[in-house]
Amino acid sequence: GGPPANAHQAAEAPGAPAGDEPPLVRLSKVNKYFGALHVLRDIDLEVRRGEVVVVIGPSGGGKSTLCRSINRLEPIDSGIIEIDGKRLPEEGRELARLRADVGMVFQSFNLFAHKTILQNVTLGPIKVRKMNKAEAEQQAMALLERVGIAHQAAKYPAQLSGGQQQRAAIARALAMKPKVMLFDEPTSALDPEMVNEVLDVMTELAAEGMTMIVVTHEMGFARRAADKVVFMADGQIVEENTPEEFFTNARTDRARDFLSKIL
Ligand code: ADP
Ligand code: MG
Repeated sequence: GGPPANAHQAAEAPGAPAGDEPPLVRLSKVNKYFGALHVLRDIDLEVRRGEVVVVIGPSGGGKSTLCRSINRLEPIDSGIIEIDGKRLPEEGRELARLRADVGMVFQSFNLFAHKTILQNVTLGPIKVRKMNKAEAEQQAMALLERVGIAHQAAKYPAQLSGGQQQRAAIARALAMKPKVMLFDEPTSALDPEMVNEVLDVMTELAAEGMTMIVVTHEMGFARRAADKVVFMADGQIVEENTPEEFFTNARTDRARDFLSKIL
């Protein structure tokens, strides 16, 4: 069986890193427009090393744009984004290197269709991290083992179920040894019976201390794995709270209204 439900919080409690350690991810007064549409409004967010932040909120609120701007898939219009104390540059080699520190898993699995699962997982480490092929394959097999699909390594993405493809996508992101993992609704495109196999992998990652930002509608996962819940609507962070408080005693009307519709 996997780790106990609250292993992560328990591990974080007394021996947690000193509070003076700088946050691993820091957003300060981040603003982003799509034309006249103000999609991110003065976003301030800090994610500490080992912390799991779950981002919840209504569709169109800016959650995906937030994720995409954290690794510069989307440029921002103002504000600061820092990963491990380094400000993300606009472009260039330094950007590619810093971007590789941020692993991303999308709703649609985004695997390369014409490459095997093994090749999907070795490509980045060989090209970007300059790992040799044998080492990359060894690492890939260990990661595929960890997400429970080592026996599918030689197959192509279309030969796998959605849940298996998403676990392959997680292994691919982990192969880059990211400092933080972003998940944007990783289970929303899955058939219901496959949701848990992906959430279980994510819960284990959290318990092992991975720093994670997870956009999800899976409230069970949020309750059990999150250190912090961020409720986002209309481009703003409306409420930041502990999962316990958020689900039982949300501070804002907006969050309570949202919760009343989904729970
Ligand atoms: P969420 O992930 O919370 O559903 P998004 O970040 O996808 O929200 O979208 C926030 C807002 O930005 C929405 O109004 C959406 O229509 C708009 N938007 C997202 N991407 C683009 C884009 N590439 N061009 C124009 N508008 C966009
Ligand atoms: Mg989205």
